[in-house]
Amino acid sequence: MRYLVISDIHSNLEALEAVVADARGQHERIVCCGDIAGYGPDPNAVIEWCRDNLAEVIRGSHDRACSGMEDLEWFNPVAQAATRWTIAQLKPENFEYLRSLPAGPRSLDNFALVHGSPLDEDEYLLTSLDARNVFGYMEADLVFFGHTHLQCGFGWKGGRQYSLQRVVDREVWLRVEPDSAWLVNPGSVGQPRDGDPRAAYALYDSQTNEILLRRVAYDSEQTRRKINAAGLPDVLGIRLGMGR
Ligand code: ZN
Repeated sequence: MRYLVISDIHSNLEALEAVVADARGQHERIVCCGDIAGYGPDPNAVIEWCRDNLAEVIRGSHDRACSGMEDLEWFNPVAQAATRWTIAQLKPENFEYLRSLPAGPRSLDNFALVHGSPLDEDEYLLTSLDARNVFGYMEADLVFFGHTHLQCGFGWKGGRQYSLQRVVDREVWLRVEPDSAWLVNPGSVGQPRDGDPRAAYALYDSQTNEILLRRVAYDSEQTRRKINAAGLPDVLGIRLGMGR
C-alpha cells in the first residue's frame, strides 16, 4: 500500500491543496499525525477535507485546544488568540470531529502514527538524543510523528543511530531495512519551521519500505492575506513566508 503521510496542516488550505496536487497519483491512502486545526485561516474547509479524505488520523495538541479540551494557559498569546478565533469559527460538526479524534499511537499496516512521541502525545522529538530515549518503547519498526514542524528522520540499526535532521531544500529518500527502527516526521504541511517555507510531506510504500520526504511551494502570500482579513495575529502570516 502506498501512503501519503501528512502532519500539522494547521488550517492552511493553500498548503494542503499544493501537497495534494503534488502527490496526486502516488498513493492509495492518506494518513495524518494531527494538528489539523489552529493558527491558519481555513479551519472548516481543512477539517472537511480531512473528514472526506483521511484513512487514519490522530489528534494533536491544537486539535484538543480548538475543540475545547484544553486549558489554554500553557499556550503563548498568539496561539491562544488563534485558538479562540478557531473555536468561534468552527461549525458544530467540525468541532465534534476534532473532539472525536483518537490519541496516538495508532497502528496500521506495518507502522504507527503519533503526534509527539510514542510515549507522550505532547513530547517534542527534536534531537537524536530525544529519539534515542524512545526507540526502546516502539511497538512498530516505523513510527511517523509530527508536533515539531521539522521534517526529519531518526534511525536505529545494530546499535548505531542515524539521523536526517532539518531536511531543507532537497528531496530525501530512505528505506526502513530489516532489524532497523525509524522515527520519521513528514514535516508540517501548513506551518514549516525549518527555514524552508514550502509545505512538507512524505510518501511511504509499505511493500518496499521506502519513504520519500518532499517539499512543494505554495502561495503563502494568499494565506497571509486571509490571516489578516480574519483578524488573526499578523505574525502568523509573516512566519509562513519565512518557514519559521
Ligand atoms: Zn503543530
